[in-house]
Amino acid sequence: MKLVSACLAGCHCRYDHGSLEHEAVLALICEGRAVPVCPEQMGGLTTPRLPAEIIGGTGEDVLDGRARVVNSAGDDVTAQFLAGAREALRMAQAVGATEAILKERSPSCGSAAIYDGTFSGVRVPGEGVTAALLRRHGIRVTSEESLAHRTGDC
Ligand code: SF4
Repeated sequence: MKLVSACLAGCHCRYDHGSLEHEAVLALICEGRAVPVCPEQMGGLTTPRLPAEIIGGTGEDVLDGRARVVNSAGDDVTAQFLAGAREALRMAQAVGATEAILKERSPSCGSAAIYDGTFSGVRVPGEGVTAALLRRHGIRVTSEESLAHRTGDC
């Protein structure tokens, strides 16, 4: 079983109320092989919401208290991001997920790259808070960019 980012499955849970609809992710859900989660909503943030970025490090650093997550108005939303990561982990463990396919570059879900905390579109290597927590618990995390595009039968 896999976890997938809910926004990749067409849920309008992104900060701007948008969604993405990745066909291969939808196919996994249709086949009963994946469960969608949105850590930011599960952590208590509203939709729509202001965009947020990690300041001073990566998701690993946030887990260890060395970095914070801040939105574009300067509000500290670290607690909500940590809560959402814990909820996503709980769901992963509940369904026996061994893998997660999450939205690249998100401060929660990014697995190889995130934004640098300046809200200027600069990408840096690193992972989001949820991706980091899942990996700490032995779950393999990749992104939609690793999936071949295909259409499901359902
Ligand atoms: S990238 Fe993750 S946290 Fe952001 S909207 Fe998608 S599922 Fe939710």
